[in-house]
Amino acid sequence: AHLDRIAEVDGRVHAFLHVDTDGALAAAREVDSRRAAGAELGPLAGVPIAVKDVIATKGVPTTAGSKILEGWRPPYNATLVERLRAAGTVMLGKTNMDEFAMGSSTEYSAYGPTFNPWDLTRIPGGSGGGSAAALAAYEAPISIGTDTGGSIRQPGAVTGTVGAKPTYGGTSRYGLVAFSSSLDTPGPCARNVLDAALLHAAIAGHDPRDSTSIPAPVPDVVAAARLGASGDLTGVKIGLVREFSGEGAESGVMSAFTETVEALTKLGAEVVEVSCPHFQYALPAYYLIAPSECSSNLARFDGVRFGLRVGDDGNRSLEEVMSLTREAGFGPEVKRRIILGTFALSSGYYDAYYGQAQKVRTLITRDFTSAFEQVDVLVSPTTPFTAFELGARTADPYQMYLADLYTIPTNLYGGPAISVPCGLSDGLPVGFQVMAPTLADDRMYRIAAAVE
Ligand code: GLN
Repeated sequence: AHLDRIAEVDGRVHAFLHVDTDGALAAAREVDSRRAAGAELGPLAGVPIAVKDVIATKGVPTTAGSKILEGWRPPYNATLVERLRAAGTVMLGKTNMDEFAMGSSTEYSAYGPTFNPWDLTRIPGGSGGGSAAALAAYEAPISIGTDTGGSIRQPGAVTGTVGAKPTYGGTSRYGLVAFSSSLDTPGPCARNVLDAALLHAAIAGHDPRDSTSIPAPVPDVVAAARLGASGDLTGVKIGLVREFSGEGAESGVMSAFTETVEALTKLGAEVVEVSCPHFQYALPAYYLIAPSECSSNLARFDGVRFGLRVGDDGNRSLEEVMSLTREAGFGPEVKRRIILGTFALSSGYYDAYYGQAQKVRTLITRDFTSAFEQVDVLVSPTTPFTAFELGARTADPYQMYLADLYTIPTNLYGGPAISVPCGLSDGLPVGFQVMAPTLADDRMYRIAAAVE
């Protein structure tokens, strides 16, 4: 039924870069035979899933939205793909995204944009716009995204779906095409909080193949989502970030957010204002740290090891082939970040830019730590604005970067955060963000389920 739905609507939505019909049918049959053989199957057995194209899938094209990886079929599976398989999910295909996960609208995909199912003239968010649009268009019931600065939560917010960024290190990065390794976090996307929690439980947990994976038990996020759905928040303390109050957010977004906060107080939560003075520096710090790490990570795309190779006519040097390949293979936003990152890391400027940004990162982490001494969770709108028209923010990169104003602090800190739908503004979905302390992913699901 989902493959039929994709055939029916994806010509208009373009959530998928690759639909793996044969693989999906084979995986579904495998689940059937496991069931027939009496195997004990989990709650996601047989459930179709869409996977962001930044995650390595054995034998199935993986482009990261870039021309430089066109035609690459990884010889191995990411850990999370192995776990999805073990859980019995059925992968439908790979979803569209901004090139190398850099962007907030999916317009920077080298394969053309994804369109928001709520209004096809608008963006579905990014970088994981395909994973969110696939849910909103009923092409898949659950999907996988990756969140470096907001790429799970912001698409969730603007498509009226749920997107959760787990604690950094709570989900494995093994087999993820790296953008910014100290920030990249794979996580679940779904149409409701309980489905997201079920998917979270299936993919999370220690992976010895990822050196930053946390060797700690995964909190019971499913039980927490069920507890939150019961609607009792007595004894829960919720913090409003003073620095996020109003400024920069559309009024329709702010009013949907404020109404939701009021609803939470009716469920018994106590709401207080908390100051996080360094959050205002999160965006500039992120746009030094993420490009710096990307300039290093993307050095591996050299025209030799993966995908595209340009100009290899037997007369050119390795360096010329590398340069022609990178010139043709990378899009403008990726080039901008490589240049920015290379500059920020260069010896004369390292302390002034990268070093300074790392210090700001520490100050932001301290803001979170002291906030969580006062409250259980912090809340904010997920994004300052609802889904915008295609083309509205591509001329000025800074306008695009603003989409992640409220999501980026969490990435710099490393804690979990989720976006859950909280109403409409001018007929378009608004997202409510819940941020929790590192490793308290269960707490985040509890509050999110109460919002829902
Ligand atoms: N929009 C942010 C960026 O362009 C975040 C991307 C992400 O989370 N992958 O870097």
